[in-house]
Amino acid sequence: MVAAMGTAGLRLSPEARAALRRIRAELATTGPALPGSVEVRRLRCGKVACACRATPPRLHGPYNVWTRKVAGRTVTRVLTDEELEAYRPLLDNARRLRALVAELCALSLDAVPAADRRRARQQRSASPEGTRAT
Ligand SMILES: [Zn+2]
Repeated sequence: MVAAMGTAGLRLSPEARAALRRIRAELATTGPALPGSVEVRRLRCGKVACACRATPPRLHGPYNVWTRKVAGRTVTRVLTDEELEAYRPLLDNARRLRALVAELCALSLDAVPAADRRRARQQRSASPEGTRAT
């Protein structure tokens, strides 16, 4: 049953259903995605006698530093300007996916209390004294 696919019995409001449709449409059009983020940073090197360790320091760079987590560890890689230009849309895609997933989780969480109330109402109406309207 396509209409009920993925809602897992949650009773979504019309607004939430509209948001779900929009999120699904956006997910369907999102392409390849790269995790992590890029920061432009000036760095110190490992050489003891280098201008980057002088006072005042003259740091190296700026560099495009791509940071991401791999198995719980932070991994960095310096990207050339060309690489950054090529990867930017993929980094943006991943950011968009994270935002969509967060929105999807939020609207699902909003529906959970309503589902609990409905279950409680069904249990009350199944018992003999559960005829009181709420
Ligand atoms: Zn240096």
